[in-house]
Amino acid sequence: MYLTARNVTKKFGGFTALDNVSISIASGEFVCLLGPSGCGKTTLLRLIAGLAELDEGAIRLEEEDLSRTPARKRGFGIVFQSYSLFPNMTIAENIGYGLKIRNTPAADIAARVAELLELIKLPQAADKFPGQLSGGQQQRIALARAIAVEPRVLLLDEPLSALDAKVRGELRSEISHLQRQLGIPTLMVTHDQEEALALADKIICMNQGTVVQTGSPEDLYNRPATRFVADFIGTSNLIETARAREVQPDLLETRPEGADAAYVACIRPEHIILRPDTNGRATVRSVIFLGNMCRVEVDDPLGLLTVETHGGESYREGETVDLSIPREMCTWVADDVSEAAS
Ligand code: ATP
Repeated sequence: MYLTARNVTKKFGGFTALDNVSISIASGEFVCLLGPSGCGKTTLLRLIAGLAELDEGAIRLEEEDLSRTPARKRGFGIVFQSYSLFPNMTIAENIGYGLKIRNTPAADIAARVAELLELIKLPQAADKFPGQLSGGQQQRIALARAIAVEPRVLLLDEPLSALDAKVRGELRSEISHLQRQLGIPTLMVTHDQEEALALADKIICMNQGTVVQTGSPEDLYNRPATRFVADFIGTSNLIETARAREVQPDLLETRPEGADAAYVACIRPEHIILRPDTNGRATVRSVIFLGNMCRVEVDDPLGLLTVETHGGESYREGETVDLSIPREMCTWVADDVSEAAS
């Protein structure tokens, strides 16, 4: 592995923000740290960046131990949520800043800045000031500034969350494109599961200061390890064992060995098959039209289920319907959420 954080613990007073966390990034890989607010993502990114000190554990880049290396000597590029450009410097000066403090000759800085402005598709922006640019443009400049020095690792802390939906979508594709083109190993913090699914080669899902699951976007979506992951990534229908036993006992046949009542079945909305049936077992509670699909909530003996239908039938509130759950599409997951609650 290229970059590793091993057995990292970080406490703030009596509060443990990170509890023995280990993560790794392979060379060229785009890794997303995903989890709810307060789970410790930013703290981990800051420790890797060298902006905060480890209590325990180690940060390594290949064979080099960086645990006590100051941030500016790590050779990492960082982009924050709040652009953080220097307001009284031009765009060219902002992008060239890292090169200037490394005593790079002015002509080389100018050439590199021009090349980066092309790369981020803002070739006319060199002489402007940050205040004259939109949020999305400023964030592209922040990205150019971070990659100007050819960082060994690119760290992105919620870089898209201050932007509106359309700009966020555009910049998301650009970040993805740039990262693949340049091959810089990248670690991005986000609480947005859609963003992580779209961008990451590998997602590290965190909760309450620990890593709950690591895998490809497909792994986490199709094979969530726990109820927390199933709930946090995508929309899940979760079915308690007792209900499954009563209503559709064949679902229990797909339970993993050793699974007990503390396991719940997870079925994604697109895998439930819905059909109109006046003698059916379920009732439509709500229908939301989303253009390319309808999201239908149904009251079923298995519980309140969300179903996505693509074209075909239309449904009305109060209508009686029938549904089937293909058991091969069910994943049984450990119920870590109610354990944590009890
Ligand atoms: P968010 O998306 O809201 O930023 P996060 O997952 O990045 O969440 P962190 O910012 O890493 O979470 O914070 C993790 C926990 O550590 C939170 O409970 C936070 O209040 C606490 N924390 C973070 N920094 C400090 C600090 N300097 N002093 C005290 N507590 C802190």
